[in-house]
Amino acid sequence: MKKLILGSFVALLLVLTSCTAQRKPVQNVIYLIGDGMGFGAVSSLLLSESEVTGFEMAPVIGLNETCSANNYVTDSPAGGTALATGTRTCNGYMGVDPQGQQLESILKKAQQWNKKTGIVVNTVLTEATPGAFYAGVKKRSESYRIAEQFVESGVDVAIGSGLSAFINRPDSVDLTASLIEKGYDVYLDWKSVLQTTSQRFVGILPMSDVHRRNKPSTQSAGAADGAEVCLAARLAASQDDAGADTTVLSEPNEYLAKAVKKALSVLEKDSPDGFFLMVESAIIDGYGHNNDSEGMIEEMQEFNQTLKALVAYVQEHPNTLLVVTADHETGGTSVAYKSHEVGETVPLQLSFSTKGHTGTVVPVFAYGAGAEAFAGIMKNTDIPKRIENLIK
Ligand SMILES: [Zn+2]
Repeated sequence: MKKLILGSFVALLLVLTSCTAQRKPVQNVIYLIGDGMGFGAVSSLLLSESEVTGFEMAPVIGLNETCSANNYVTDSPAGGTALATGTRTCNGYMGVDPQGQQLESILKKAQQWNKKTGIVVNTVLTEATPGAFYAGVKKRSESYRIAEQFVESGVDVAIGSGLSAFINRPDSVDLTASLIEKGYDVYLDWKSVLQTTSQRFVGILPMSDVHRRNKPSTQSAGAADGAEVCLAARLAASQDDAGADTTVLSEPNEYLAKAVKKALSVLEKDSPDGFFLMVESAIIDGYGHNNDSEGMIEEMQEFNQTLKALVAYVQEHPNTLLVVTADHETGGTSVAYKSHEVGETVPLQLSFSTKGHTGTVVPVFAYGAGAEAFAGIMKNTDIPKRIENLIK
């Protein structure tokens, strides 16, 4: 009998030891996507910022080929799909393969592995890049359908904009009520999001709360060579202040960094198996479409605030992986030669070669646990696959 008990104890110890040994070093993943953020955008930050930027803190840097299934130049739905699911699809398609079949995103897989999940964007929650992580449609314009899929997404926390797809619907259904039925707290203003202690909530804020407005572009939003006209281009040129709570959001660069910190505070609580957080800085793309040098530089400085907050989080939580990349480059953005006198201080001015997207490679920056997997040249589809290998 004694032998039997001892044997059982040893067997239990072996099981416990093997469980511990199998525990992955990467528990949490933060996936930060700068829409349209190519080397020109990154350069604009490096050349305009005197302090060390979040990019320079990256121990691992790679290159990302951003093609879609049917073009060297991807649009945002296909670009988001590649980064979310590991499959290239046709331009215009979001979350589905070239045959229209639903794909499974790394966010949905993370839920199956018992991770809490979150989405934070400075655009509408049903836009192409976040949508690729939870929805499946052949047209990005199907925002009413995408909003229905968002309700079914199972994310623990989401903060962004785009209320009309949830309440001003042809079928008259109020999807905010559907979210509440599913156990979410739903907030429609920034102050409530900042103050809530809810562990399961969706913040659907006025557009003017989620991104800084730039002066209207002197050039209208347009696209070249058949490329899409992105929502981001219109947002970048918007001056609509309606609904903004200026008493809370007093600084122009506060929203995304603060929203990310709020989401992290929810995700890290009671999550023994970790979390997956997708973050999109969407409006870089818009300034590229509008060929707006000043807007792009300011937007990259805002991006840097978010990035530095996330790098600090990773430094404090060594089981967390942070991967930063773009879905594509926008604007053919570059820093072109300009003649000036020796000693003369000349403000940085970006140059552009198109009002559409381009097919040039974009950078990848990786930090924290498992970061070394993102060195070298990779396809956009490799990124979610490498994340999966680290956390599955
Ligand atoms: Zn775009």
